[in-house]
Amino acid sequence: MNRLWQCSMIALARRPHNGRKTLMLDMEDIDYVGLTLDLRKSLEDRGAPTAVTVQAYLHRSEEDIRALCDAGAFVRLVKGAFVGESRYAFSGRPEIDANYRKLAALLLSPAARKASVYPAFATHDHKLIGEIRRVARDTGWMPGSYEFEMLYGVRPELQKELVAAGESVRLYLPYGRDWWPQHPLFTGGWY
Ligand SMILES: Cc1cc2nc3c(=O)[nH]c(=O)nc-3n(C[C@H](O)[C@H](O)[C@H](O)COP(=O)(O)OP(=O)(O)OC[C@H]3O[C@@H](n4cnc5c(N)ncnc54)[C@H](O)[C@@H]3O)c2cc1C
Repeated sequence: MNRLWQCSMIALARRPHNGRKTLMLDMEDIDYVGLTLDLRKSLEDRGAPTAVTVQAYLHRSEEDIRALCDAGAFVRLVKGAFVGESRYAFSGRPEIDANYRKLAALLLSPAARKASVYPAFATHDHKLIGEIRRVARDTGWMPGSYEFEMLYGVRPELQKELVAAGESVRLYLPYGRDWWPQHPLFTGGWY
């Protein structure tokens, strides 16, 4: 990674702020998982609060989540926006959802709480959200010690319901010229 860019990110993340301000690393396909996890660690080691996204569709994610729990990390759990081969990925929706539940339970374990893990559940799946809220309640996690994340404009009623129930909800809003691949289909002048 370009060193100047790395330093600018660290300076930005260190600025005084109110509330939880963290650099969140998205996760791309399997080729970048190890590199992105290493990047999180290297930024944290330099004093920049850095969170990372983990994808439930990958077999390796259980091990990654366990290591991130030991490190007391801020972790965003997603189902995964990619499709992978069966030697390293789950492909069916039921398998991915089941792994999401398993990983969510690890993030909400007493050991994770003791290690100061901050879990973010990025999903619009209302059934999963209901289950996560129940597990959180049963294991003593207070609303605000974890959060839900959704895309701006997707299931706004569910977002409002969660906030009214006292949950923390963060909305994800991609913006700028380069948030979507430059393809003739997507460059019709609506930027
Ligand atoms: C904040 C945030 C960050 C993310 N970061 C990453 C990342 O770094 N790497 C990565 O691989 N993936 C990322 N994702 C995408 C994620 O992996 C899923 O592909 C996506 O969230 C859809 O899965 P779901 O959990 O909402 O469940 P699903 O079962 O796919 O969806 C549940 C329901 O939500 C609704 N819904 C879901 N998505 C949409 C949509 N786009 N538009 C309209 N309705 C929708 C549908 O009604 C659907 O039935 C991110 C998602 C969010 C919300």
